[in-house]
Amino acid sequence: MKKILCFILVICAAAASLAVSACAKDGNKSISAYNVFAIYDEEAQTLTGTLNFDYYNGTQNEIKDLKFNLYGNAFREGATYAPVSKTYENKAYYGGKSYGSMEITGVENCAGWTVAGEDQNVLTVNLIEPIYPEQRVQITISYILTLAKVNHRTGVTKTTVNLGNFYPILCAYSAEGFVECPYYYCGDPFLSDCANYSVTLDIPEKYTAASSGKLESESVNDGRKKCLYTLKNARDFAFVLSDKFEVISENVNGVTVNYYYVADTNAQVSLSAAVESLKYFSETFGDYIYPTLSVVQTGFCYGGMEYPALTMIADGLDSDNNIYTIVHENAHQWWYAMVGSDQINNAWQDEGLAEYSTLMFFEKNPSYGFTRTGIVKTATNSYRAFFSVYNQLNGSVDTSMNRKLCDYSGEFEYNNVTYNKGLILFDTLRNSIGDEKFLSGLKNYYKKNVCKIASADELYGCFIKSGTDLEGFFQSFTEGKILI
Ligand SMILES: [Zn+2]
Repeated sequence: MKKILCFILVICAAAASLAVSACAKDGNKSISAYNVFAIYDEEAQTLTGTLNFDYYNGTQNEIKDLKFNLYGNAFREGATYAPVSKTYENKAYYGGKSYGSMEITGVENCAGWTVAGEDQNVLTVNLIEPIYPEQRVQITISYILTLAKVNHRTGVTKTTVNLGNFYPILCAYSAEGFVECPYYYCGDPFLSDCANYSVTLDIPEKYTAASSGKLESESVNDGRKKCLYTLKNARDFAFVLSDKFEVISENVNGVTVNYYYVADTNAQVSLSAAVESLKYFSETFGDYIYPTLSVVQTGFCYGGMEYPALTMIADGLDSDNNIYTIVHENAHQWWYAMVGSDQINNAWQDEGLAEYSTLMFFEKNPSYGFTRTGIVKTATNSYRAFFSVYNQLNGSVDTSMNRKLCDYSGEFEYNNVTYNKGLILFDTLRNSIGDEKFLSGLKNYYKKNVCKIASADELYGCFIKSGTDLEGFFQSFTEGKILI
């Protein structure tokens, strides 16, 4: 995700390694598959869906129950974890408070099912018999997603319909079992393993759908449009709908980049930033493995949000923030989408790297007007301002980076510790080991972990052979010992 930056208002301070099979470009049979059929009702603002889930047991254990995160249920009235903080409520709920939900209406081919978890956020499906490693089982989940009127990942905005997290998604599997993720408002509370997707969306004909997937077929009948999309080796799938989209496209390295926008007087520049950054990151880190990339301008209360092969960019950003956010969200295709990490407990790992990759792109492409020195200075000044304010208010500051999303006091602390300190960490590392070792470490990190979820140790491991005491280096940052 990207918060809206304060380039000028820097001092605005008031305010487990998880096992997944390696991926192949043509899809991997040894992973799970989501087959979704969903119908959008514009009047009711509901998405009625059927998920045929083909589970592949890629773990070392027998599995008796499957667990799915129901992120859509965080928008219901009375949720324990509100999906939006008080700070962003006015920006998110443009027409006043509004609620949604994700209701499970049935599960077939199972021994029973319940919706529970810390915040009615987890569907548990009891299987008829245990599934052993490398075996498969198919279940069918029926659900109704009701959308709130909200500028957020899942919601109806003034001009678009954001369909992030629109289906029950299997919880990632760790050494402790399936990881349940309540919808913390700080950061991106999502963790899922890669799977193959086939999604059919039935929408009013007037809508254009921006999608994570490649359009395989489309049929129009009686004012409705049915579109089938596919995507291989992806850890999520999202759509944005609008009847107001304009679309421009460009092909780069065989990838079709589509820019969907509602109002952008510099649309061609925005598309170029998306295309050039995709090209740069592919050359610098490793191949982009999806056939398309949808960059989508939409109603959103933060700067932007990443999904595999789709990024949401908030409408109404000024031109600097717009370009910066497009590049930052594109960087997440490498650090989050292709190389996953634990976004719940180590948010700095993908956010710090996305920020630093953005810096690297602008350093190579000075025409956008950003410099390495300028970006590092902005991050450092902002971090120091945060440190100073918190120190004055509380007498001490928690600057640890290896903590859970719910352990941050709010977005201000979260932004500074994950984005700004994360960026400073990678810049300090680069200064210490040199450009060559830094770049080869990142290439190695991508190569070893593409389509997996990489632990922080695995990230450290990719730099460790460069000779310096890097374990101590990383710990001094993540445990909050270093003074910046
Ligand atoms: Zn981000």
